[in-house]
Amino acid sequence: MPPNEQIRDICEFESSQDAAAVDESKISEEERAKQAKIQADIKAYEELVAMPFYKRPDIKWFNLYFMVMLHLGALYGFLTFPYFEKKATTVFSIFMICLANFGVAGGIHRLWAHRSYKAKLPLRVILMIAYLSSGQYSPLYWSRDHRVHHKFSETDADPVNAARGFWFSHVGWLTMKRHPEVVRKGKMVDVSDILADPVVQIGEKYFELWRLLFAFIIPTLICVYGWNETWYYAILSQAFMRYAFSLNCTWSINSFAHLIGGHPYDKFIMPAENLVMSFFTGGEGWHNYHHTFPWDYKTSEFGNYSLNYTTILLDLFAKIGWAYDMKQPSKTLIENVIKNRGDGTHEISRKAEKAH
Ligand SMILES: [Zn+2]
Ligand SMILES: [Zn+2]
Repeated sequence: MPPNEQIRDICEFESSQDAAAVDESKISEEERAKQAKIQADIKAYEELVAMPFYKRPDIKWFNLYFMVMLHLGALYGFLTFPYFEKKATTVFSIFMICLANFGVAGGIHRLWAHRSYKAKLPLRVILMIAYLSSGQYSPLYWSRDHRVHHKFSETDADPVNAARGFWFSHVGWLTMKRHPEVVRKGKMVDVSDILADPVVQIGEKYFELWRLLFAFIIPTLICVYGWNETWYYAILSQAFMRYAFSLNCTWSINSFAHLIGGHPYDKFIMPAENLVMSFFTGGEGWHNYHHTFPWDYKTSEFGNYSLNYTTILLDLFAKIGWAYDMKQPSKTLIENVIKNRGDGTHEISRKAEKAH
């Protein structure tokens, strides 16, 4: 069954068809040309994608080469790194993974992309630095892509469309040209509120420099000058192992958490509850819940803290007033949605079933 957005798109399309049937002459030539161009762009893209892999001009070969080399380097590191001899570097790498997860989950995702809570300047600065330490792409692109992902999930306009399979939604989308619908509908998404934040403006303006500093140079220098790590192991652990691991944590939400898991809140959408992914992302794996209630700052139900250290940290920041206006749906709304749209596996559904 198609997700909500598709249903709405279909309804809008059908109603526009009805209107067109009433008075075809009212459709301007300009509108006809626009629609024809959209269809031609989509057809051209579909023809590209149908070509043999090695012949496709839409593949971003540099990105693909970079990803392959990064992962080969990381794999070599994971197999050869002397974890117990180099305890400080090992522990520091784990800390950096958690810091990046906090920046991605608590900052770019829950704060800037979803506005699920508000944060005072010191917390926004911490979150931006934590996000930049993940080495991911520009803050503005990330948050805009994520809004598009939620609005058009599992359609051609979804930048990480899981309906195109595991590879595409995990990392493939970074190595090929975007679907014309991603570009077209992406332009319709308002990001002015994100750009109004001076922290985002500064993060965006010098983004390449910040990324280089916070994701690679500073962590490497900390290892070398903090506990005399060798340059070789400092670079291998920070620029390859930790970076690749951290990227895959985030990517897994678009792939595994859209393809594997239950649907206790909404069985009509693909995003699923994936506990393993919550472990690897600091609490972002309750993805069926998140796509059903995207404005909840916890991204999970009723203070489920087991693996959600992002929420624990946000609650701590709320205690000192740096985080505030934390949004979450009411218990009644959650219960009603579970009963009406859930797949029946939630405790509330099971209790309701027994009562009948
Ligand atoms: Zn998603
Ligand atoms: Zn989201």
